[in-house]
This record gives sequence, structure tokens and C-alpha cells, in this order.
Amino acid sequence: MDYYKIIEKIYQDTQNCFGKGKVSSYIPPLAGIDGKKYGIAIRTVTGEEYKIGDADEPFSIQSISKVFALTYVFHQLGNKVWKRVGREPSSNQFNSIIELEKDNGIPRNPFINAGALVITDMLCELHKKPKVSLLNYVQKLAQNPNIYINEEVAKAEAEFGYRNAAVANFLKSSDNLTNPIKTVLDTYFHQCSIEMSCIDLCRACLFLANNGHSIDNEQVLGFRPNKKINSLMMVCGLYNEAGNFAWRVGLPGKSGIGGGIVAIVPGKLAITVWSPELNKNGNSYVGFKALELFTTLTKESIF
Ligand code: GLU
Repeated sequence: MDYYKIIEKIYQDTQNCFGKGKVSSYIPPLAGIDGKKYGIAIRTVTGEEYKIGDADEPFSIQSISKVFALTYVFHQLGNKVWKRVGREPSSNQFNSIIELEKDNGIPRNPFINAGALVITDMLCELHKKPKVSLLNYVQKLAQNPNIYINEEVAKAEAEFGYRNAAVANFLKSSDNLTNPIKTVLDTYFHQCSIEMSCIDLCRACLFLANNGHSIDNEQVLGFRPNKKINSLMMVCGLYNEAGNFAWRVGLPGKSGIGGGIVAIVPGKLAITVWSPELNKNGNSYVGFKALELFTTLTKESIF
């Protein structure tokens, strides 16, 4: 398969999709990002890489970081994780608190903010310096020691993090956070502020396509837990639009409000698209379209 030709065609054919979404206004450093940025990258399990546009430019990975945090604690704690977090999709917004109250403080899944905060709490239980440990973990997965946390973004997350603070307080009152709220929030805001390029993300997430093996052939996860992360991405990875992503794209994926989407073709490759203009559900407008075209052109979908 000539993946370069395919991403080149996608890149051209989606140029008319700009201007239909809106760059996130969640925090000032994200609101200032150029909405015309656009990159696509692929890394195959056999080691080939393909990229186009701004695929080497680091951007705020935001919620995509939830995949790394979950993988890290799942590897360390195994199925104990699921005593405190569910595995069902959510039809509410990613930062909603409504469901949490109905579900007695057990978040629906690890990819909504409530679930991610519980996972971050586990990370804080397991590591003395959780921010550094997670960053090192991601750097190793991507084989790039230059991946960094944008402190300006983390600071703004803390300044405007009223909802996350509300969710964390609710979790604490439900006995589902063991560390101080301040520690968990600070770690979570820093994890969301990691910056990576499309190619970094493809390399770091390749294990999901490669039976749990990283690009340097280390076993990140066994076959079964790896399958489980992919299935969670399938049903919960695109906010409350995971159904639409399954319908239009047909791959496990994870998005972030920085405009990135990573998708996995099991057994074959990881593909990342970055385009900061978001649709009304907080997913990259152009990224969604690009991935839809990818599975249409290659016929590489899990369905
Ligand atoms: N830092 C954002 C938040 O906690 C992440 C949002 C996202 O990418 O979904 O609300």
C-alpha cells in the first residue's frame, strides 16, 4: 500500500474543510493556536513512516495523554483499576459531573475527565514523582527524549480548571481519590500539557497496533490488556461522539481538544492527524474527515 500517496490525497482533498470548526477556547494558550495547522503521520508495525504537512510540529496532546496514563497504571495494577473506574461509554460531555453523581462516584470510563482523574490518582499512588514518571514513559514509548510539558499550558489549565476541580472534589467526597485533590489536579494538568508531534504520537502508540510491542520491541502490554485499551478507545475515545467515529471511520481512536486524533489499525499501523479546528463535540473537524477518507481509500477498518 502506498501510504504516502494516500495521505497526500487526503491532505489535498480536505483543504476545503477548513473554517468549519473552531479552535478550542478552553484556555488562552490553546485559543492562540493557528487553526490552519495540519499534519498527518503514519507508522507501520514494520517500521515505515509517512508524513505530510505539520507532522513534525509538537502540539498539546490534551486528552490523548489519557491513553498513556491508563496504559501505565493498567500495566502496573492490572484489573484492580476497574474497581474504581468503569468501561462504558458516556453520552455526556467529557467534563460532565452529572453521571458521576448518578453512578455513585465511579466514573463511566477512563477517558472522560472524572475517570482520567481517578487514573491520575493511581499514578500518584504508584510514583513519587508522577509527572516525571509519566513524561519519561511517553518519551521512551516515542523514543524521543525531547518531548516536554508546556508549563504555560499547565498553568492556564490550573487557572481555568474550575470544572476539573469540581469533579475532583466530588470524587474525593465519594472516596474515590486517595491523594490530596491539589496533587491529583496538578499532575493531571501537567499530563494534559504534554506536547508531541503527529510522528511522536504514532511512534508512542504503535504498541496498540503491534500486540503490545513498542517501536523498540519492548512488551508494553500483553495481548489481552492491549486488546482492552483498543476496545476502550473504540467505545469511549472520541468523547460523546465515539459512535459517530465508529460509524464514519471504524477504528479505535483517541482525540484531544488540542486537535489531535490518534487511530489504530490493529496489526498494521498507527495514524495521527492534527488540525486544531474542532467540531461541536470537541473533536478535530478536519482530522475526523481525514481519518474517514483514510479508511475509505485503504479499506483498512476493523469492520
Ligand atoms: N485538559 C482538558 C480538560 O481537562 C482536556 C480536555 C480534552 O482534551 O478532552 O478539560
